Amino acid sequence: MALFSSQVVHSAPFYDQLEAVQLDDAHFDAMGRVEAVGDIDRKVVCLRPMRKGLPEISAESLGEQVRVHLYGHGGSGWTLLWGSVDKAVTLFEEKAREHEFNDQVPITVIGAGCMGKAVALSLYHAGYRSIRIIAEQDSRIASLNSTGYLAMVSLATENETEKKEAEQLAIETLKGYQRVDSGTHPIINEGVHLIDVYSGLGKEGEEGPLETYTGIEPFAEAGLLPKPEKGVVEFSTGVSYPMQKFRTYFMDTAVIMAAFDRELRTRNIPVIHKTVDSLDDIKTNVVFNCSGLGAGKLNHDDRVYPNMGLLLDLAHQPLNKLDYIIYTRYQPPGAPKRSSPVDKADIYFMPRGGGLLGATFIDHNDGSDTALNEALFTRILRENRQFFGYPINPH
Ligand SMILES: Cc1cc2nc3c(=O)[nH]c(=O)nc-3n(C[C@H](O)[C@H](O)[C@H](O)COP(=O)(O)OP(=O)(O)OC[C@H]3O[C@@H](n4cnc5c(N)ncnc54)[C@H](O)[C@@H]3O)c2cc1C
Repeated sequence: MALFSSQVVHSAPFYDQLEAVQLDDAHFDAMGRVEAVGDIDRKVVCLRPMRKGLPEISAESLGEQVRVHLYGHGGSGWTLLWGSVDKAVTLFEEKAREHEFNDQVPITVIGAGCMGKAVALSLYHAGYRSIRIIAEQDSRIASLNSTGYLAMVSLATENETEKKEAEQLAIETLKGYQRVDSGTHPIINEGVHLIDVYSGLGKEGEEGPLETYTGIEPFAEAGLLPKPEKGVVEFSTGVSYPMQKFRTYFMDTAVIMAAFDRELRTRNIPVIHKTVDSLDDIKTNVVFNCSGLGAGKLNHDDRVYPNMGLLLDLAHQPLNKLDYIIYTRYQPPGAPKRSSPVDKADIYFMPRGGGLLGATFIDHNDGSDTALNEALFTRILRENRQFFGYPINPH
């Protein structure tokens, strides 16, 4: 199938041949829904902790207590991690000087996602020695389900100033991952590597992969990651498309969370499984509120809301040959014209775990509408199928 113009082919600086995702025994049931068998290992419903505007990163004094808030990172929490954690710790240290706290001051971190665990380890690195984490749970959380794509997608900034502020946090975070990658980060030194990201070149109204805001642009413009190149990608199924190639970091979030857990154990920082009903129930001098979506209730913040992400975790993939990301909008040939936002991918493949297909970005959705979820899982599979060209067996 040749969907590209000869002009693109002749001027293409790259012609990459990629192994396609293989779903040999994908089934649709009698209702047309995808069955989670065989090459689909798990259907994941997960919620991004969105916040209208910027994530909340602030510190306040309430009598003898200092409260630091660090939540609301939406679909970019890993992308904003180190910049946000550093900012929160800096704000805390200003307050600690005012309050004349010493390094033994008792600190409670609420939340055991990437924010809570990274902030606890950063506080330890800064010299604090009486730290505990309290969390409802740390297994089925956004931080573990995240795909680990370093990109500015899925935030709810409302103006240019907020966008620039978020980009600054992301740039500081990228520098943090560069240290992780080079083995010089003070907290962890594993779980990230640079990866190629492909997205479309088609214009509105055309068919195939369409131009998409990948969220890597701010890093490329700042000269911190390579500028995108235009070329052609051919998949092992024989499908080929003109595409844009970016490069960014891929964060293996399961590996990084496991590294955080190991470092917490080494430093005797406990993770206590408990639900906090109110911040007033925590009596330590210092509280870090890293409760993600839970912060809506705990900090009475009505700007916090869920954005639902659905993922299909894959099995039996030739993963050693799938070390790339696809993040692109897509117009199926012959289908009614769609109007997906320019920054949201219809085709989304990431090599996390056994490989995954996704994703959805559904605002103000708490994941409880199972009929809708099934319909969306089916859509993910159908759309990716058109892209990768794998066969689908009728049931
Ligand atoms: C499907 C999906 C894909 C994603 N992909 C990416 C990506 O590619 N790149 C990227 O940068 N980001 C991505 N994200 C976003 C990223 O995962 C989140 O922004 C980040 O994990 C938020 O971390 P957190 O620590 O703030 O929250 P969470 O991981 O949600 O952790 C919150 C913690 O607070 C605890 N808690 C909440 N309320 C209470 C309470 N009342 N008492 C006690 N504990 C409480 C929870 O139990 C949990 O331990 C994705 C998210 C999803 C869902």
